[in-house]
Amino acid sequence: MPTLSDNFGRSIHDLRISITDRCNYRCVYCRTGTNGAAFAELPFEDYLRMARILVGLGITKIRLTGGEPLLRKGIVEFVRDLAKLRTTEGKKPGIALTTNGHLLAEIAQPLKDAGLDRVTVSMDAVDSERFARITRVPNGYASVLAGVRAARQAGLDPVKINCVLLRGFNEDQVVPFGKFAREERVVVRFIEFMPLEEDRVWTPEIVVTLDEIVRRMSEYLPLEEMAHEHSETARRYRFSDGVGEIVIIAPVSHPFCGQCSRIRITSDGKLRTCLFSVWDHDLHELMRRGATDEKLTAFIVNVVEKKEERHHIGEPGFVPASRTMVHIGG
Ligand code: SAM
Repeated sequence: MPTLSDNFGRSIHDLRISITDRCNYRCVYCRTGTNGAAFAELPFEDYLRMARILVGLGITKIRLTGGEPLLRKGIVEFVRDLAKLRTTEGKKPGIALTTNGHLLAEIAQPLKDAGLDRVTVSMDAVDSERFARITRVPNGYASVLAGVRAARQAGLDPVKINCVLLRGFNEDQVVPFGKFAREERVVVRFIEFMPLEEDRVWTPEIVVTLDEIVRRMSEYLPLEEMAHEHSETARRYRFSDGVGEIVIIAPVSHPFCGQCSRIRITSDGKLRTCLFSVWDHDLHELMRRGATDEKLTAFIVNVVEKKEERHHIGEPGFVPASRTMVHIGG
């Protein structure tokens, strides 16, 4: 059986599946504010077939995302089915979820019981008023906080928080998030804002960079960088007293494309080899036309070989991705 690697020698073992294009939040840096989904969603058995083939090709980690994945009825059963797959080494694939957390409190334990290993909750502020301004949904903060706590209670470990900072909007949340990491015993991950939003508001000046986040956080409490594997895309820090972990993912100021091991399936079954791809590959259409597993395998291997070398954020002539983050699956 072939395994997945590209023409730049990277081996591919992380898969993200967007299971819906719908979202119940309208975060200012992500969406235009409309409610509509732009792309279809597939029956779970179609994603499952794709995942089965991909796990047979060396995928070891699967992350469910969206849109907002918890809007999808049947996600618990889907996780249970994914957990029955076996990697090429005979192990259960790691199964993770990225969610805005709004609906997490009720479903965290059933997801854990079904085989979910980890959850990442996106939060861009830790006070309820600011949170509502960013998400454009009233009263979300209490639900998300309850979701974070329920996830920890259910043993989804570690619970990670994703935060995107925008200059002039929420960069003053750096220290509050540091306190939050310590008090709630979660790992807070700051992700640099990338030009993947519907409204095309990105400029280099809006990005709050890794260096700035470290500087601001260190004014609160000293940070120590933790050792990390060469292949890790994130910089990890702990506070000098050992309580609380901060991670910074810096695709803009410190790109890590050389270590990228990811591919994505969109909610409508397109294979994407880079967040910044200007085209995608219609795996679902092949399935719909009755392709065998062997045909699908050959298609996937061929597409992945041509994975883009790197993104070109901030360079002259940068061509925006053919889809924005919410429609790819972050
Ligand atoms: N609804 C889920 C959620 O809120 O986590 C999953 C989808 S959301 C698009 C996935 C992640 O992408 C979130 O953490 C969000 O903050 C992040 N994101 C969205 N647009 C982004 C951008 N332009 N740059 C960096 N991260 C972005």
